[in-house]
Order: sequence, then structure tokens, then C-alpha cells
Amino acid sequence: MTFIEVAGAKVDTRHYIGGQRVASAETFTNTSPVDGSFLGEIARGGQTEVDLAVAAANRAFKGWAALGPVGRGELLMKLADLVEANIETLAQLETMDNGSLLRSHRRGVMPRVAMNIRFFADWAINHLAHEKFETRGHTNNISWDPSGVCALITPWNAPLMLATWKIGPALAAGDTVVLKPAEWTPLSASFFADLTKQAGIPDGVFNVVQGYGREAGAALVAHTDIARISFTGSVPTAKVIAKAAADNLTPLSFELGGKSPLLVFEDADLDLAAELAVEQYDNAGQVCLSGTRILVHESVAEAFAEKFRERASKIKQGDPRDETTDIGPQIHQVHFDRIKGFVDRAKAEGQTIVMGGEPNDELGGLFFRPTLIQPSAGAEIVTQEVFGPVLCMQTFNSDEQALEMANGTEFGLAAVVVSGIREHADKITKELVAGTIWVNCFFVRDLRAPFGGSRKSGIGREGGNWSFDFYADVKNTVVSPNGWKE
Ligand code: NAD
Repeated sequence: MTFIEVAGAKVDTRHYIGGQRVASAETFTNTSPVDGSFLGEIARGGQTEVDLAVAAANRAFKGWAALGPVGRGELLMKLADLVEANIETLAQLETMDNGSLLRSHRRGVMPRVAMNIRFFADWAINHLAHEKFETRGHTNNISWDPSGVCALITPWNAPLMLATWKIGPALAAGDTVVLKPAEWTPLSASFFADLTKQAGIPDGVFNVVQGYGREAGAALVAHTDIARISFTGSVPTAKVIAKAAADNLTPLSFELGGKSPLLVFEDADLDLAAELAVEQYDNAGQVCLSGTRILVHESVAEAFAEKFRERASKIKQGDPRDETTDIGPQIHQVHFDRIKGFVDRAKAEGQTIVMGGEPNDELGGLFFRPTLIQPSAGAEIVTQEVFGPVLCMQTFNSDEQALEMANGTEFGLAAVVVSGIREHADKITKELVAGTIWVNCFFVRDLRAPFGGSRKSGIGREGGNWSFDFYADVKNTVVSPNGWKE
């Protein structure tokens, strides 16, 4: 079976290598988190398929690089148009594959996929430039040259969105790509490969190898012909990849996990704070940036908690295809069990469960109730990333204590600050360790801005020029005023 039909879309279950569909001797099973239904058997790639894909990407590199930003841009704009024309199909497909809300795929995520492609194509043509400067009469000319084949490894929580956040700048920079999507969500990448073909992207420029991380992923990151590795996923996997990359000194960009704080100060608008806190359950808590540690000034803790509970009680959990649903299922039984394990251990330790704390038995399947825990300092649940609908709430009594708690994990991905006084918010944001801080808001993201994590939440930044600094070979050509014959 080389095609499966999911939500009305025909999806190829094979790899996409050198513009051709390639099967594997073995397959792995893909099921839907929405209802547990069998979606299909997907080609299970390994060293052989990775070798083929990297060779195809290498062959295509020179031609793609030679097109220049404008030539590439034309094709990438066509690709973005095709994504836009297929938003409904992509949204349906992604929802069945990863269980996230159909309405958010339709109106937020898939339009963003198109924007990821369009933005970086445009950036390479119109914005990627450095002011010329002189050194004792010598001119410094800075350019961003294509670097080669990029290995892109992505997670399952926002499959195509996160993949195109890498594919967009890599292709715009003149690199070619081998993408290894997460094994729990292989479908949107495969459908996207068809769109690259329709857009006229030359064969070999974009390749997809499906399979497990320990097989296809490991073979890809260890490959000697890879110029860049961009990985989004967990800290333990990042450590394995960093070791493999070390042998070839392959440059790395890592977007990793988090345990971000959401700080509610005594001068905060508590309605806004409660609204923002409840948003942290979005995507069933499977969001790297989630402010999962709610830290509240003790003077407003009770009032905040009441508003939070009131707002959280209105969350509708259910089928992600239903437009009125707020939270869908977790991605997979393995992940569901992991989340339940964290909560069960917190219970066994005697941590206070304020809300939820158990599977949603009315819905069955992979639905876990939105949970709020009041843990003691240093508890596992407040230091480890759960990646589910589990928030912790703790109190502080001074700015110093708030900062100590906020900065007190090994992560530094994001932070949310809720305060009514600008000077107060400014003072706090200066001291927070995080790649992105939102003040009185959440998830406002601009592709021009740098994105990444501090500490164990990542290595490097992507977005705007930062993406090109990573994917391209940045070159400085210093030209003397002397020695010219003309
Ligand atoms: P994961 O690390 O288990 O897997 C991510 C990808 O790596 C998958 O495609 C997997 O197949 C692959 N992989 C696994 N082992 C590999 C190996 N040895 N070599 C090469 N590839 C390998 O992560 P996950 O469970 O899919 O995703 C959840 C994690 O991702 C969370 O920690 C979350 O915070 C993080 N995340 C971070 C961001 C960010 O932008 N910072 C965004 C989304 C998710």
C-alpha cells in the first residue's frame, strides 16, 4: 500500500528522494490520536535511504545554489501559494495525525506554514544585506553563501509548522534539504513533498526520509556530507545528536525543551493573568514555549487562583475536529503514559492536586484532564518538562524570590510576565534568563525576531538574519583600494 487516504487527502507512505517516491522493505504503523484509528503503514527508512537522500540533495545543490535568491524565490513563492490552496487538506491531515485542533490548523498553523516559506524567500531577496563599511579605505563585503545539504529533524507537536520554520530559510539560503519528520506524525511532510514537486522545485532539492529517530534520524545526523543539522526536540535526543555531529564538526542549531515561568505580580491585571495562564493548556500542553510554572505574588494568589479555576472550568475537551473544542487528545499512548507517570508520582509524593490530575474517563482514549498542581519547592513536577496539560502554581513574596524561582531550572526557553507597571516589568525582564519573554501577552511571534533558548533549551537562534547566519556560509570579502589596473 503506497497511498493512504486520510481525511479526504491521498498521502504517499513512501520516502521522497530525488523527486521520486522510494519504498523501504520495512514499515511502521501510524495511528490517529483522535480516535485510535489505523492510518497506515509508513516506509521505515535507515542508512540506505538516508544515503540515497543525501546523495540526491548533494547532486541538486549546485543547481539550486546557482539559481540565486530571486530564482529560488520564484519557486518558493509558488510553493507558498500551493500550501495556501491546500490549507483545508493540510489542516485535516495534520489534525488526524497529531490530534491538535482543526480550527487552529485552519486559521493559524497552516497559513503560518505558507508564511514561513514566503517570508524567508522574500527576506533573502529584499532584506538580507549588511551595511557596507570600510577599514582604512578597504571595503568589507559580507555575503551569505549557500552551504550544502541540511539535515532537518522535527518533532510531532506542530509537525509542518516547525518543519517549514527550517525548510523556508534553508531553501531560501540556497541549501538543499533532507527532512526526517517525527515517526508519530509522518503525513504532512509527505503531502508537502508533493507540493514541492508541483511548485517546480528541482528534484533532489527537498527530500523526506521517514522512520524512527534511532534509525533514520541517527543515520542522517552522522552523515559526513551534511553541512548543517537543525533539530527541534528533546534534550536527551539533542545530546545524542551533538555527539554524532561532533565527529564531523557539523554546525548545529537546537530548539529544545522548556519549563518556562509565568509570573503574576501584585500589580497585575488578574483577569488577563488568568486568561494567559489558561492559554498554557493549548495544544493539550504539548507546546515547548508553555509557561507551565505559574509563579504568583502571595498577596494576589488566592484571587488569581479563583479566576484561574473559573476560567479553566470552561475549557472544553473533546474531538479536535469540533470547532468548539479547546483541547484535544495527547499525541500517543507512550506520551500519555509519560504524562500520567509524572502526575502519579507527584500524587505519591503528596503534592497538592488542585484541579484534574487524571485521565478524562468520560472521553477515554488519550484525553488527560487539564491539571493544576501546587508542588513543594524542588519537586520533580516543577523542574522536569512534562509536555502535557499539567501546570504548577507556586507563590513568591518579593521580586528577588520571583526571579530566583523563575530562573531556577536548567531551561531558559521563554517566560511570561504579567504586571501593570512598566518599570516593574522592565526590571524583571532584564533579569530573566529566556530566549523569548512576553509581557502581558503570549505567543506573539514575528519571523523577523530571533527565536531560540538559553541554557539547555537550545543552541543558537533562528528567525530573520539569524536563520541565514546559521543556514548560510557567511563570508566577508575585504577589497583593497590598491592594486587595480583600470
Ligand atoms: P524527540 O527528541 O523524542 O524527537 C524529536 C525528533 O528527533 C523526532 O523526529 C525523532 O525521530 C528524532 N530522533 C530521535 N532520536 C534521534 C537520534 N538518535 N538521532 C536523530 N534523530 C532522532 O522529541 P519529541 O518527543 O518528538 O518532541 C518533544 C520535545 O521537543 C519536547 O522536549 C519539546 O519541548 C521540544 N520542542 C521544542 C521546540 C522549540 O522550538 N524549542 C518546539 C517543539 C518541541
